[in-house]
Amino acid sequence: MEHALMELQFLLDFDGVLFNSNYEAYTVAQKAAEGRPGFRQDVSFNEFETFRSVVTDAWHYNRLYNIARGTILPSMLREIEPEEDDWAFASAFFAAREEITKDPDWPKVMPPYDFFFLIRPLLIAYPHRFAILSTRNVASIRQALAFHDADVIRVFGQEDIRRAGSKLAVAQEQNWLERGRWLIVYVDDMNSHLEPFEGMVHLPLHANWGYDHSDLSSLSHHQIFTIISSLLTLTEKQN
Ligand SMILES: [Mg+2]
Repeated sequence: MEHALMELQFLLDFDGVLFNSNYEAYTVAQKAAEGRPGFRQDVSFNEFETFRSVVTDAWHYNRLYNIARGTILPSMLREIEPEEDDWAFASAFFAAREEITKDPDWPKVMPPYDFFFLIRPLLIAYPHRFAILSTRNVASIRQALAFHDADVIRVFGQEDIRRAGSKLAVAQEQNWLERGRWLIVYVDDMNSHLEPFEGMVHLPLHANWGYDHSDLSSLSHHQIFTIISSLLTLTEKQN
């Protein structure tokens, strides 16, 4: 039977699936722009949240804060190629985050979703079954997990996605797209991140509690937890 030979692997997005990081990202972006001529000082949290719903890389925030760039519709972000000032803002963003994360209480501005608390015991019991696949930088993911005593699973972050080119390309590097070999469950809140995985992995699941719109095929945290824990029960009993 094919199933007996397949390895089960759960890939979890971070922002919008495990942690609600909108306020944290806002704090970091505000700090990156703070007091700098040429950068907006009046971006509200609401405006930031709307913009962030389509952000996939920190350089995108330059197009929200940089006054000389003018206004851009968030939906246009994916059409543009980064330029030098975009990378400069991305560097400022990560430097600001590094500064902010020196405060050991920093993860308090990034509350976990209920899903994280549901799944945390499984991460700890079966760490080799899980990996994070996120556009966030690896260090801040590890720090947030460590704050909640769950820094036990592999993390693929912004650095890996820049190197490989996309989330799907990272999955490909890990051979996770070999369907006869892996049974992959991939959970993400962004439809645009899931779409490339459609037909490429067995179970691309849309989390309905994150930052993107939901539809009839979206699943609640209880539904996704049930799928994951059921598959684990079946697999771990066999082995
Ligand atoms: Mg997300």
